[in-house]
Amino acid sequence: MRLQTTLGRTISVSGVGLHSGRAVRATLRPAPAGRGIAFVRTDVGVVIPALAEEAGRLEYATSLGEPGREVGTIEHLLSAAVGLGLDNLTVEIDGPEVPILDGSSAPWVAEIRKAGLVSLGSAARPFAVTSTLSVHGEEGKWIEIRPSKELRVSYSIDFPNPAIGRQSISLVLTPDVYADHLAPARTFGFLAEYDYLRSKGLAQGASEENCIVVGDSDVMNGSLRFADEFVRHKTLDLVGDLALVGRPVVGHVVAHRAGHALHTALARKIRQAAASEHLRRSEPVHESVALAGR
Ligand SMILES: [Zn+2]
Repeated sequence: MRLQTTLGRTISVSGVGLHSGRAVRATLRPAPAGRGIAFVRTDVGVVIPALAEEAGRLEYATSLGEPGREVGTIEHLLSAAVGLGLDNLTVEIDGPEVPILDGSSAPWVAEIRKAGLVSLGSAARPFAVTSTLSVHGEEGKWIEIRPSKELRVSYSIDFPNPAIGRQSISLVLTPDVYADHLAPARTFGFLAEYDYLRSKGLAQGASEENCIVVGDSDVMNGSLRFADEFVRHKTLDLVGDLALVGRPVVGHVVAHRAGHALHTALARKIRQAAASEHLRRSEPVHESVALAGR
Protein backbone atom coordinates (compact mmCIF):
# COMPACT_ATOMS: atom_id res chain seq x y z
CA MET A 1 0.00 0.00 0.00
CA ARG A 2 1.26 3.45 -0.92
CA LEU A 3 0.37 6.50 1.16
CA GLN A 4 -0.97 9.65 -0.48
CA THR A 5 1.58 12.38 -1.07
CA THR A 6 1.84 16.13 -1.31
CA LEU A 7 4.64 18.64 -1.93
CA GLY A 8 7.33 19.13 0.73
CA ARG A 9 7.07 22.92 0.38
CA THR A 10 5.55 25.68 -1.76
CA ILE A 11 7.04 26.34 -5.22
CA SER A 12 6.62 29.42 -7.43
CA VAL A 13 7.26 29.39 -11.17
CA SER A 14 6.82 32.27 -13.63
CA GLY A 15 6.54 32.12 -17.37
CA VAL A 16 4.43 32.81 -20.41
CA GLY A 17 1.28 30.98 -21.59
CA LEU A 18 1.74 29.17 -24.91
CA HIS A 19 -1.63 30.18 -26.36
CA SER A 20 -2.54 33.35 -24.41
CA GLY A 21 0.97 34.83 -24.49
CA ARG A 22 0.24 36.12 -20.97
CA ALA A 23 2.98 36.34 -18.33
CA VAL A 24 1.75 34.32 -15.34
CA ARG A 25 2.97 33.10 -11.99
CA ALA A 26 1.99 29.64 -10.77
CA THR A 27 2.35 28.84 -7.06
CA LEU A 28 2.21 25.15 -6.17
CA ARG A 29 1.18 24.56 -2.55
CA PRO A 30 0.95 21.39 -0.44
CA ALA A 31 -2.63 20.11 0.00
CA PRO A 32 -4.16 17.65 2.50
CA ALA A 33 -4.96 13.99 1.77
CA GLY A 34 -8.15 13.45 -0.21
CA ARG A 35 -8.07 16.94 -1.74
CA GLY A 36 -6.56 15.84 -5.05
CA ILE A 37 -5.25 18.45 -7.48
CA ALA A 38 -7.05 21.76 -7.89
CA PHE A 39 -6.36 25.04 -9.67
CA VAL A 40 -7.16 28.42 -8.15
CA ARG A 41 -7.43 31.42 -10.49
CA THR A 42 -6.37 34.04 -7.94
CA ASP A 43 -7.14 36.91 -10.37
CA VAL A 44 -10.81 35.95 -10.79
CA GLY A 45 -11.38 34.01 -7.55
CA VAL A 46 -12.30 30.61 -9.01
CA VAL A 47 -11.36 27.13 -7.75
CA ILE A 48 -11.37 24.38 -10.39
CA PRO A 49 -10.70 20.75 -9.42
CA ALA A 50 -8.56 18.85 -11.92
CA LEU A 51 -11.34 16.41 -12.91
CA ALA A 52 -12.52 15.26 -16.33
CA GLU A 53 -15.99 16.79 -16.01
CA GLU A 54 -14.35 20.23 -15.69
CA ALA A 55 -12.60 19.89 -19.08
CA GLY A 56 -13.39 22.83 -21.35
CA ARG A 57 -11.63 23.67 -24.61
CA LEU A 58 -9.55 20.78 -25.96
CA GLU A 59 -8.11 22.23 -29.16
CA TYR A 60 -4.29 22.21 -29.11
CA ALA A 61 -4.26 22.00 -25.27
CA THR A 62 -6.45 20.94 -22.35
CA SER A 63 -8.27 23.63 -20.38
CA LEU A 64 -10.49 23.38 -17.33
CA GLY A 65 -13.46 25.56 -16.43
CA GLU A 66 -15.66 27.99 -18.29
CA PRO A 67 -14.46 30.61 -20.79
CA GLY A 68 -13.26 33.72 -18.99
CA ARG A 69 -12.71 31.75 -15.78
CA GLU A 70 -10.71 28.86 -17.21
CA VAL A 71 -7.18 27.56 -16.69
CA GLY A 72 -5.54 26.56 -19.95
CA THR A 73 -2.71 24.20 -20.95
CA ILE A 74 -2.84 22.27 -17.69
CA GLU A 75 -1.56 18.98 -19.12
CA HIS A 76 2.21 19.32 -18.77
CA LEU A 77 2.07 20.37 -15.10
CA LEU A 78 -0.52 17.66 -14.31
CA SER A 79 1.61 15.14 -16.18
CA ALA A 80 4.67 15.98 -14.06
CA ALA A 81 2.60 15.78 -10.86
CA VAL A 82 1.00 12.38 -11.45
CA GLY A 83 4.08 11.07 -13.28
CA LEU A 84 6.05 11.60 -10.07
CA GLY A 85 3.29 10.23 -7.81
CA LEU A 86 2.10 13.57 -6.41
CA ASP A 87 -1.56 13.11 -5.34
CA ASN A 88 -2.59 16.32 -3.59
CA LEU A 89 -1.68 19.78 -4.80
CA THR A 90 -3.15 23.28 -5.02
CA VAL A 91 -1.99 25.33 -8.01
CA GLU A 92 -2.63 29.05 -7.64
CA ILE A 93 -2.30 30.96 -10.87
CA ASP A 94 -2.76 34.68 -11.52
CA GLY A 95 -3.82 34.37 -15.16
CA PRO A 96 -5.61 32.18 -17.70
CA GLU A 97 -2.94 29.64 -18.59
CA VAL A 98 -0.20 27.54 -16.99
CA PRO A 99 3.28 28.73 -18.11
CA ILE A 100 4.67 26.68 -21.01
CA LEU A 101 8.32 26.97 -19.83
CA ASP A 102 10.44 24.95 -22.33
CA GLY A 103 7.44 23.08 -23.80
CA SER A 104 8.15 19.89 -21.84
CA SER A 105 7.39 18.88 -18.25
CA ALA A 106 11.07 18.60 -17.26
CA PRO A 107 11.15 22.04 -15.53
CA TRP A 108 8.09 21.03 -13.44
CA VAL A 109 9.74 17.70 -12.60
CA ALA A 110 12.91 19.51 -11.48
CA GLU A 111 10.94 21.93 -9.27
CA ILE A 112 8.76 19.21 -7.74
CA ARG A 113 11.80 17.04 -7.05
CA LYS A 114 13.60 19.99 -5.42
CA ALA A 115 10.62 20.54 -3.11
CA GLY A 116 10.29 16.79 -2.51
CA LEU A 117 7.20 14.71 -1.81
CA VAL A 118 5.95 14.00 1.69
CA SER A 119 3.64 11.14 2.69
CA LEU A 120 0.29 11.89 4.25
CA GLY A 121 -1.61 9.72 6.71
CA SER A 122 -4.06 8.18 4.23
CA ALA A 123 -3.71 5.38 1.72
CA ALA A 124 -3.65 6.26 -1.99
CA ARG A 125 -6.78 5.07 -3.83
CA PRO A 126 -5.65 3.61 -7.15
CA PHE A 127 -8.44 2.50 -9.48
CA ALA A 128 -7.68 -0.67 -11.45
CA VAL A 129 -9.98 -1.15 -14.44
CA THR A 130 -11.63 -4.58 -14.54
CA SER A 131 -12.79 -4.45 -18.17
CA THR A 132 -11.57 -2.71 -21.31
CA LEU A 133 -12.90 0.82 -21.86
CA SER A 134 -12.55 2.32 -25.37
CA VAL A 135 -13.19 5.63 -27.09
CA HIS A 136 -13.14 5.92 -30.87
CA GLY A 137 -12.58 9.19 -32.69
CA GLU A 138 -12.74 10.15 -36.34
CA GLU A 139 -10.35 8.90 -39.04
CA GLY A 140 -9.36 5.72 -37.21
CA LYS A 141 -8.18 7.46 -34.04
CA TRP A 142 -8.81 5.55 -30.83
CA ILE A 143 -7.78 5.04 -27.23
CA GLU A 144 -8.53 2.36 -24.67
CA ILE A 145 -7.53 1.07 -21.28
CA ARG A 146 -7.24 -2.67 -20.66
CA PRO A 147 -6.96 -4.47 -17.31
CA SER A 148 -3.31 -4.85 -16.25
CA LYS A 149 -1.41 -5.29 -12.98
CA GLU A 150 0.57 -2.10 -13.58
CA LEU A 151 0.17 1.23 -15.35
CA ARG A 152 1.50 0.75 -18.85
CA VAL A 153 1.14 3.33 -21.61
CA SER A 154 1.49 2.45 -25.31
CA TYR A 155 1.17 5.19 -27.89
CA SER A 156 1.45 5.25 -31.67
CA ILE A 157 1.26 8.21 -34.03
CA ASP A 158 1.31 8.50 -37.81
CA PHE A 159 1.77 11.97 -39.28
CA PRO A 160 2.05 12.59 -43.02
CA ASN A 161 4.84 15.10 -42.30
CA PRO A 162 8.15 13.24 -42.90
CA ALA A 163 9.79 15.03 -39.94
CA ILE A 164 7.51 12.93 -37.70
CA GLY A 165 6.06 9.96 -39.64
CA ARG A 166 5.22 6.81 -37.68
CA GLN A 167 6.44 6.51 -34.10
CA SER A 168 5.42 4.28 -31.22
CA ILE A 169 6.43 3.71 -27.62
CA SER A 170 5.36 1.44 -24.75
CA LEU A 171 6.42 2.02 -21.14
CA VAL A 172 5.54 0.82 -17.66
CA LEU A 173 5.27 4.10 -15.80
CA THR A 174 7.24 4.66 -12.62
CA PRO A 175 8.44 8.06 -11.40
CA ASP A 176 11.97 7.41 -12.70
CA VAL A 177 10.76 6.16 -16.09
CA TYR A 178 8.50 9.20 -16.34
CA ALA A 179 11.29 11.66 -15.45
CA ASP A 180 13.88 10.07 -17.77
CA HIS A 181 11.83 8.99 -20.80
CA LEU A 182 8.82 11.31 -21.04
CA ALA A 183 9.34 14.55 -19.10
CA PRO A 184 12.02 16.08 -21.40
CA ALA A 185 9.91 15.62 -24.58
CA ARG A 186 8.72 19.01 -25.88
CA THR A 187 5.46 20.03 -27.47
CA PHE A 188 5.53 20.66 -31.21
CA GLY A 189 3.82 22.84 -33.77
CA PHE A 190 3.71 23.01 -37.54
CA LEU A 191 5.05 26.15 -39.16
CA ALA A 192 2.33 25.78 -41.83
CA GLU A 193 -0.38 26.15 -39.13
CA TYR A 194 1.24 29.07 -37.33
CA ASP A 195 -0.61 31.93 -39.07
CA TYR A 196 -3.93 30.10 -38.76
CA LEU A 197 -3.39 29.50 -35.02
CA ARG A 198 -2.38 33.14 -34.48
CA SER A 199 -5.55 34.29 -36.29
CA LYS A 200 -7.61 32.12 -33.91
CA GLY A 201 -5.94 33.78 -30.90
CA LEU A 202 -3.80 30.71 -30.21
CA ALA A 203 0.00 30.27 -30.08
CA GLN A 204 0.41 33.91 -28.97
CA GLY A 205 3.26 32.87 -26.68
CA ALA A 206 4.81 30.26 -28.98
CA SER A 207 8.52 30.64 -29.71
CA GLU A 208 11.49 28.57 -30.80
CA GLU A 209 12.36 28.30 -27.10
CA ASN A 210 9.15 26.55 -26.07
CA CYS A 211 8.18 24.17 -28.88
CA ILE A 212 9.65 22.05 -31.63
CA VAL A 213 8.93 23.93 -34.86
CA VAL A 214 8.15 21.49 -37.67
CA GLY A 215 8.59 22.72 -41.24
CA ASP A 216 7.48 20.95 -44.44
CA SER A 217 9.96 18.13 -43.97
CA ASP A 218 12.35 19.09 -41.16
CA VAL A 219 12.58 20.35 -37.63
CA MET A 220 13.42 24.06 -37.96
CA ASN A 221 14.88 24.87 -34.53
CA GLY A 222 17.80 22.75 -33.50
CA SER A 223 18.14 19.09 -32.62
CA LEU A 224 15.61 16.79 -30.98
CA ARG A 225 16.02 15.54 -27.42
CA PHE A 226 14.99 12.01 -28.53
CA ALA A 227 14.73 10.61 -32.08
CA ASP A 228 11.07 9.87 -31.23
CA GLU A 229 10.46 13.01 -29.17
CA PHE A 230 7.03 13.54 -30.80
CA VAL A 231 5.42 10.29 -29.60
CA ARG A 232 7.04 10.75 -26.21
CA HIS A 233 5.42 14.17 -25.93
CA LYS A 234 2.03 12.73 -26.91
CA THR A 235 2.49 10.16 -24.12
CA LEU A 236 3.42 12.96 -21.69
CA ASP A 237 0.18 14.74 -22.68
CA LEU A 238 -1.81 11.53 -22.18
CA VAL A 239 -0.40 11.06 -18.66
CA GLY A 240 -1.42 14.66 -17.87
CA ASP A 241 -4.93 14.28 -19.29
CA LEU A 242 -5.43 11.00 -17.40
CA ALA A 243 -4.70 12.92 -14.19
CA LEU A 244 -8.28 14.16 -14.67
CA VAL A 245 -9.48 10.76 -13.40
CA GLY A 246 -8.66 12.30 -9.99
CA ARG A 247 -6.93 9.21 -8.59
CA PRO A 248 -4.11 6.92 -9.72
CA VAL A 249 -5.12 4.59 -12.56
CA VAL A 250 -3.95 1.01 -13.02
CA GLY A 251 -4.30 -0.54 -16.47
CA HIS A 252 -2.72 -0.67 -19.90
CA VAL A 253 -3.59 2.48 -21.84
CA VAL A 254 -3.23 2.09 -25.59
CA ALA A 255 -3.62 5.16 -27.81
CA HIS A 256 -3.47 5.41 -31.58
CA ARG A 257 -3.29 8.88 -33.12
CA ALA A 258 -5.22 10.27 -30.16
CA GLY A 259 -5.21 13.79 -28.73
CA HIS A 260 -6.61 15.82 -25.85
CA ALA A 261 -10.28 15.21 -26.77
CA LEU A 262 -9.87 11.40 -26.78
CA HIS A 263 -7.57 11.43 -23.73
CA THR A 264 -10.09 13.38 -21.65
CA ALA A 265 -13.02 11.31 -22.97
CA LEU A 266 -11.23 8.20 -21.70
CA ALA A 267 -10.57 9.92 -18.35
CA ARG A 268 -14.33 10.59 -18.10
CA LYS A 269 -15.12 6.95 -18.88
CA ILE A 270 -12.67 5.72 -16.25
CA ARG A 271 -14.28 8.06 -13.70
CA GLN A 272 -17.72 6.64 -14.57
CA ALA A 273 -16.41 3.08 -14.26
CA ALA A 274 -14.87 3.93 -10.87
CA ALA A 275 -18.16 5.45 -9.70
CA SER A 276 -20.24 2.43 -10.76
CA GLU A 277 -17.66 0.08 -9.21
CA HIS A 278 -18.09 2.02 -5.98
CA LEU A 279 -21.90 1.69 -6.24
CA ARG A 280 -21.67 -2.03 -7.05
CA ARG A 281 -19.45 -2.64 -4.02
CA SER A 282 -21.93 -0.79 -1.78
CA GLU A 283 -24.89 -2.81 -3.15
CA PRO A 284 -24.90 -5.52 -0.44
CA VAL A 285 -25.41 -2.78 2.15
CA HIS A 286 -28.43 -1.38 0.26
CA GLU A 287 -29.80 -4.90 -0.23
CA SER A 288 -29.61 -5.73 3.46
CA VAL A 289 -31.29 -2.42 4.29
CA ALA A 290 -34.05 -3.24 1.78
CA LEU A 291 -34.47 -6.75 3.25
CA ALA A 292 -34.57 -5.40 6.79
CA GLY A 293 -37.35 -3.06 5.73
CA ARG A 294 -39.60 -5.85 4.46
ZN1 LIG B 1 1.64 18.86 -24.75
